[in-house]
Amino acid sequence: ELQELEAFREKPAITKDGTRVELACNIGHPKHVDPVLAAGIDGIGLFRTEFLFMDRDDFPTEEEQFLAYKEVLEKMQGKPVIIRTLDIGGDKSLPYFPIEEMNPFLGYRAIRICLDIPELFKTQLRALYRASLFGKLKIMLPMISTVEEVLQTRAMTDEVREEVNAGPVPVGIMVETPSAAIMIDHLADYVDFFSIGSNDLTQYTMAADRMNEKVSYLSDPLHPSVLRIIHTIIQAAHEKGKWVGMCGEMAGDERAIPILYAMGLDEFSMSAGQVLPAKKQLSNLTKQDSLLLLDEVLKARTWEEVLQKIEYALKNR
Ligand code: PEP
Ligand code: MG
Repeated sequence: ELQELEAFREKPAITKDGTRVELACNIGHPKHVDPVLAAGIDGIGLFRTEFLFMDRDDFPTEEEQFLAYKEVLEKMQGKPVIIRTLDIGGDKSLPYFPIEEMNPFLGYRAIRICLDIPELFKTQLRALYRASLFGKLKIMLPMISTVEEVLQTRAMTDEVREEVNAGPVPVGIMVETPSAAIMIDHLADYVDFFSIGSNDLTQYTMAADRMNEKVSYLSDPLHPSVLRIIHTIIQAAHEKGKWVGMCGEMAGDERAIPILYAMGLDEFSMSAGQVLPAKKQLSNLTKQDSLLLLDEVLKARTWEEVLQKIEYALKNR
């Protein structure tokens, strides 16, 4: 069986009825690029840049960041690389930048910090625009809740781009707050692409802390409400002609892949270990079967019902 999986390294992801599916990987460090490339992927769907800021005693310089981004872009040899701007706060804190809050996941986090400290944000944006010359970069903003946040950021990206004399770089956002999901049609006018962050989107939709074991039964993206919100995100984004991928854990989850495929998700970005099983699963999948399952799960009233319908479909494939 291992051998059977290994055969998928060389192949792109193609469904049983011949549709090519875009598969990407999530990475957290430039050293992860070689192993994920070996799994045969179409790009990097999420490069978490927090590692550059951890295990040290001050913010990284523009040059340090530039070198890390350039390394990843060069290694990917023209394949798309989505680099996410700083997402600290929440569960990720820095020793040299302490944040004391009652509710860190609802507080000073990610884009909120970056817009509050423009010099911090511009340093990262300068490094990104400079690195953009070395590959196919896309910039992604985490934790967006409002159109204002996007407009403020785009003013800064325009300014930085001129400053370093770089070409245009697509700028997209993570859809990981219910607010962004609800405003997707308007947000679509100001961004180049979307990527659904199912980990946080589940946490904020279910109002259940993703780190809290006591409420972990609520932290599953297969709850009917989360499936509905994801379905509306993809539909609304497509109505506006925008590409929408997913970089949360759900994208590599065998229970979710047929449903997301049926919804028309444009890209699945997952951890390295999930790539070969995902390719194998897709190779056994048809659009028609997936659409039947989607229709069933969208009618479900409870989590239990969703799980039963998926289990039945997985068994009777
Ligand atoms: C997410 O929220 O789904 C996501 C991909 O971002 P992170 O897990 O880094 O918060
Ligand atoms: Mg997130």
